[in-house]
Amino acid sequence: MIAGIHRPAVVRVNLGAIKANISNEKKHLLPGQKLFAVVKANAYGHGAVAVAKAAEEVGVDGFCVAILDEALELRQADVVKPILVLGVVSPEYAPLAAVNDISLTVPNLDWLKEAEKFLEKENLQLKIHLGIDSGMGRIGFNEDEEFIAANHFLENDSHFFVEGMFAHFASADSSDDTYFKHQVAKFKHMESLLTVKPKWIHVDNTAASIFNKDIHSDIVRFGIGIYGLNPSSNPNSPDLKSGILLKPALSFVSELTHVKTIHLGDGVGYGSTFVADEDTIIGTVPVGYADGWIRKFQGFKVKVGDEYCPIVGRVCMDQFMVKMPKKMPVGTKVVLISDDPVAPNNIKAAADYVDTIHYEVACLLSDRLPREYYEE
Ligand SMILES: *Cc1c(COP(=O)(O)O)cnc(C)c1O
Repeated sequence: MIAGIHRPAVVRVNLGAIKANISNEKKHLLPGQKLFAVVKANAYGHGAVAVAKAAEEVGVDGFCVAILDEALELRQADVVKPILVLGVVSPEYAPLAAVNDISLTVPNLDWLKEAEKFLEKENLQLKIHLGIDSGMGRIGFNEDEEFIAANHFLENDSHFFVEGMFAHFASADSSDDTYFKHQVAKFKHMESLLTVKPKWIHVDNTAASIFNKDIHSDIVRFGIGIYGLNPSSNPNSPDLKSGILLKPALSFVSELTHVKTIHLGDGVGYGSTFVADEDTIIGTVPVGYADGWIRKFQGFKVKVGDEYCPIVGRVCMDQFMVKMPKKMPVGTKVVLISDDPVAPNNIKAAADYVDTIHYEVACLLSDRLPREYYEE
């Protein structure tokens, strides 16, 4: 998709905040602990290469992505630190990963056997992390027998370098740690079955790290925290206060492209879900659901100039309308998402409004929106 550089709608990313969040997290690490920046999904919508470069400047030990193409994008941008693909990559691409020095996740024994055939053919060695399903129910080994067989397989194979073993928590952001503990116990059990020794054994995501869950993890896979967002859905719960300072990096800004007064009986938008009952000032913003600004935002208040104005009528594909308390000129700044964590249109509030999580709101922001980088 082409980015709209001739339209006043941009996602602004404060790389200063990104760097500060990483630096703060680094101070919080246990001795010897490594920090891998999770930049999957275009760095949660913030822009993978720009975020990775900023992260390198403040010193991270590696990167995590979700799919192989994201890893290749970083290598093409001359990122040289270790990169781990967290998802399942088809075994036929094991050689492609190997020649680019990209580490892949092993989801099961069949994958290992398949990948081995491809690596053998080209006489390559691949770095791998053994995925453990300790209760996320997604990918990785969950049966003793299969995991033991995988270990035996690896003992006699030169095509793999066992760089890591890891699991992912389903509820590290919850104050109820029953399931968390269950996952830790299962992981420890799987760890006790190892006969090959991975370099890094890791479980921490942002939540497990910043809420000081007491478990050793050689690597912190720091994702949402990079972007200055608290992973908890209830960050005000006393045991879920982040141990580190997080500064949101993203804001989403546009401008009014049209302003008018409508009169009694005039409708706004598809289906005329808003009908004026008096003279009403309506402003138009050139952003719509094709930008990831979904229809559920109808009624949400964005900041127009210095006024918070509700979105009236349905959000269209490329535009939406706001009801304004006073006339403001075309070109007036509109803040859809503020990077001020206490503003009523901060990203968490926006996510709450559309019944989702801030991760999703950020990821949905489409490629039609240019990312603009600055530091402060
Ligand atoms: C996305 C992801 C992370 C990062 O999670 P955050 O909550 O953003 O810190 C870590 N590990 C795995 C396996 C992931 O998929």
